[in-house]
Amino acid sequence: MPKQKIYKLLIGTNNKGKLREIKSLLPENIKIHSTSEFNLKSPIENGKTFKENSLIKSKYFSKKINMTCLADDSGLEIDLLDKNPGIYSARWGGKHSDFGKAIKRVYRELNKKDKKWKNKKIKARFVCALSISYLNKKIACVLGKVEGQISLEPRGKNGFGYDPIFIPSGKSKTFGEMEPSKKYKIDHRYNAFKKLRKFL
Ligand code: IMP
Repeated sequence: MPKQKIYKLLIGTNNKGKLREIKSLLPENIKIHSTSEFNLKSPIENGKTFKENSLIKSKYFSKKINMTCLADDSGLEIDLLDKNPGIYSARWGGKHSDFGKAIKRVYRELNKKDKKWKNKKIKARFVCALSISYLNKKIACVLGKVEGQISLEPRGKNGFGYDPIFIPSGKSKTFGEMEPSKKYKIDHRYNAFKKLRKFL
């Protein structure tokens, strides 16, 4: 049996939705700490890709607490919007991460781009970069995706962020209408996590 390499892990996110999901993915014998326990603010994400931003977070939080850190950087890419909001997904919610505001902006941008967008299938995907770092050293960095489309209007109250407007391929419900346990088994974070398992 492979040796377990990590026994204690800091989860580098102040997003409660992400934290809940990451906790559900991790083996039970890993002691989990979160950045909110330490009252840590997130660093400025000035990377150009999900992977770069994920590493900025895992290294930053690891150095602050001196503990191995797992961080997530994720977002929604909409093909008709040239893959926006992408790495700017959180920023579309404004200073207070207002997800209602971010969703309104998606529909506003779609209307601007093509008045008839509702007659088309608006292809989109969630992308997630998970990284593990210890201090300034990268231990792992992987990418996971889930393909789907944008719904004609927001549906469902579960989850967070853009969940109410994303319908994964082959399903009719949005992530916002799905039970969290169902979403967690098919989404971008899960697909990234599968590639990280060997490090945990
Ligand atoms: P960041 O990774 O903290 O920069 O923020 C990612 C943003 O992407 C979140 O604030 C959400 O708006 C969005 N996002 C990432 N993953 C999900 C998800 O699983 N469901 C819904 N929205 C998500």
